[in-house]
Amino acid sequence: MTQKRTHKSALEEVDGIDQPESIHTKSVQKIKIKRNTLPSTQVFVKKILEGDITHLSRAITLVESSNQKHQQKASEILQACLSHANNSIRIGITGVPGVGKSTFIEAFGTYLTGKGKKVAVLAIDPSSSINKGSILGDKTRMEKLVNDNNAFIRPSPSGDSLGGVAKKTRESIILCEAAGFDTIIIETVGVGQSETAVHSMVDFFLLLKLAGAGDELQGIKRGIIEMADAIVINKADGSNIDKAKLAKTEFTRALHLYPPKKSNWQPTVTTCSAIDNTGIDTIWNIIERYVAHTKSNNYFEEKRNGQNKFWVLETINNQLKNEFYNNPAIKSELASILSNVQQHKITPFDAANYLLELYHKKSGH
Ligand code: GDP
Repeated sequence: MTQKRTHKSALEEVDGIDQPESIHTKSVQKIKIKRNTLPSTQVFVKKILEGDITHLSRAITLVESSNQKHQQKASEILQACLSHANNSIRIGITGVPGVGKSTFIEAFGTYLTGKGKKVAVLAIDPSSSINKGSILGDKTRMEKLVNDNNAFIRPSPSGDSLGGVAKKTRESIILCEAAGFDTIIIETVGVGQSETAVHSMVDFFLLLKLAGAGDELQGIKRGIIEMADAIVINKADGSNIDKAKLAKTEFTRALHLYPPKKSNWQPTVTTCSAIDNTGIDTIWNIIERYVAHTKSNNYFEEKRNGQNKFWVLETINNQLKNEFYNNPAIKSELASILSNVQQHKITPFDAANYLLELYHKKSGH
């Protein structure tokens, strides 16, 4: 009898047959990786530049983390990767839920990897923190692409502010580019403000549409149309083909009524079927033409510079706001000052000035 057996316990196990693994081996690997200490910044950078997906994913996790140490590490990695980034085409894709974004990205991404491209798919969906990764969360819709060695798919980071979510995605673009991905697709849902955020980080903006029941033009917000470099009518298959062709004609006519874009590019309308895989090559041709056009008139470069400037200012704005609202003095005073405003004891402007002065005093600025 072994030592173990002398201590009788209800929890004691007798030697038996080997137990089958209770957890999938892949999950075990993930747990092991998580428990390991973080590799050094140098190792991260080296591996990312070699195109190592595991390290790319882990670096993106650092970018997405709110832990200060992780953020510091992410910032070092980003800094080192920056000079290796920028060599890609960044494509934004938007459209209302159900228009076929996932199906389209699966077809388009597979088409591109077939042409030898390396495709990274990222997403921006601020609502995904509420319904946990609603966008790209269900990767089963992109089965082929998920298993494609030349594709990398990352669901939308969670977060409670669009600015925060967008910052994480923008930083992830840098990491993906440093890892050798030459085509970056950023998906967003065609509702709310997220298109503007996506537009501020892509070279080419593609709006997916459906052929509607005669009210194509009312169905889309003017702002989004103005941002689009191409409008693609999806689901142009089966009995829908004629309707899609009609919608194409109507959109083309409507787009001519818009003022010319700074890029001097005339937005193009086309049709496709993500399910039947038709029209996908035409869309890629349009994007290639756009890139050639905007590179020759320098707009490509200008736009990226403008976007960088925008993100500097945007980051400062967000940072200042965070610092202000997280200041302990502001945290403890804000509610009572707001209530004083509501009771007409102090004007909104005096209240704001009081809080700003308090912040400056307490933060020593
Ligand atoms: P998302 O919400 O925009 O990502 O849309 P999905 O990709 O999930 O597609 C919504 C539904 O439309 C699914 O049932 C798809 O099978 C279908 N769908 C997507 N693309 C096409 C297409 O080109 N033709 C047809 N007939 N159906 C499509």
